[in-house]
Amino acid sequence: MSNTTRTQVAIVGGGPAGLMLSHLLHNAGIESVVIDNRTVEQIETTHRAGILERDSVRLLVDSGVSDRVLTDGHEHEGISLRFGGVSHRIDFQKLAGASCWLYPQTEVFIDLHRARTRDGGDVRYGVSDAEVTGVTDTPIVRFTDADGARQEITADLVVGADGSRSICRGLVADAHQYFREYPFAWFGVMVQAPPSAPELIYTRAPEGFALISQRTDTVQRMYFQCDPGENPDDWSDDRIWDQLHTRLSGEDGFRLKDGPVLERTVLPFRSFVQSPMRHGKLLLAGDAAHTVPPTGAKGLNLALADVRVLADVLERAITKDDDAALDTYTDRALSRVWKAQHFSYWMTTMLHNVDGASDFDEQRQLGELETLVASEAGSTYLAEGYTGWPLH
Ligand SMILES: Cc1cc2nc3c(=O)[nH]c(=O)nc-3n(C[C@H](O)[C@H](O)[C@H](O)COP(=O)(O)OP(=O)(O)OC[C@H]3O[C@@H](n4cnc5c(N)ncnc54)[C@H](O)[C@@H]3O)c2cc1C
Repeated sequence: MSNTTRTQVAIVGGGPAGLMLSHLLHNAGIESVVIDNRTVEQIETTHRAGILERDSVRLLVDSGVSDRVLTDGHEHEGISLRFGGVSHRIDFQKLAGASCWLYPQTEVFIDLHRARTRDGGDVRYGVSDAEVTGVTDTPIVRFTDADGARQEITADLVVGADGSRSICRGLVADAHQYFREYPFAWFGVMVQAPPSAPELIYTRAPEGFALISQRTDTVQRMYFQCDPGENPDDWSDDRIWDQLHTRLSGEDGFRLKDGPVLERTVLPFRSFVQSPMRHGKLLLAGDAAHTVPPTGAKGLNLALADVRVLADVLERAITKDDDAALDTYTDRALSRVWKAQHFSYWMTTMLHNVDGASDFDEQRQLGELETLVASEAGSTYLAEGYTGWPLH
């Protein structure tokens, strides 16, 4: 029994959702234990999201995780929408009075990991064979720790923050799964080159979508639409740059700055929501409960928004014996999730080409983009959605 730990909240998954929740619970005086099957080094070196909404930045800073985002991150006051070979700036500050921040998920992890370490948090990395039982009664999480010893956590409540391949999701009885697949994927590259632009460029071209993002003065992140079946190893640097240059070219003479490709991956994407997000003493957060196509930069932000609500609900349930608070979680979280699902779907379908689309479909898509950039109301909708709706 020496391998048994007792805590108030057991959290499966130490991504942004799990670590931020553990931090917020600590601020509220509630104990938690987090487990993650990856090592710190694996998480720190896996490139994923890069854009934080205004309120995600506030959450990191105001909750005491770190204010490094304000010094090391880059405030972006807009994006460019590029189509017909011309860029159109969407000015977030002018339209929505808000910005977003370029701050990679790897940095968010480093900040959260440091904050949990600083505050004496119990986070077990590199675990394996995790299983969760007793979610309607006495939750128990069993796993093998990084040294190979079998461990057990007993808790009042358990949170599944274990990402898009969640083992916790399946424990929610009678759940409904909403699902949409797309006939394309993103080819993502990390390249060694100077920035080509100060802000993100979302491009719709006859050859397909492309996104130009930034990381540092010497390394950039770029994506282009591809077939989900593509093998990244079949793509030489020249072939990748050929696709990117073609999609970004235009009458304004814009040209990407190129260089060696450091990393290449194919990212399939889909829209997914599971409801409810709670069953008995188990609650889901982040990608474990929902995933969005990356086009709207919402996944990481939704994970942080979920746990902000969840921390409040858990605090009321634990410190005020208010179990009814748990019942409110799904509706409170999903109201934002469905807004983000629509926004991500809309950005995706507006900017990507679908095989077999007719010339009518293509002209209609261009008509939508023209309307959007010409209309202050249309551009404001994009600016508000991209920088994030206020957290209530
Ligand atoms: C390649 C890629 C690019 C992306 N780009 C963007 C983007 O540009 N913008 C954006 O907003 N979002 C993006 N996303 C989405 C974003 O990264 C996720 O939405 C975000 O990480 C969700 O956070 P999370 O904590 O819910 O899940 P995760 O970050 O996936 O964390 C879950 C954690 O649980 C752990 N885990 C899983 N199973 C177990 C288990 N059985 N036992 C123990 N631990 C377990 C995992 O190791 C992981 O660390 C991208 C995702 C990917 C994969």
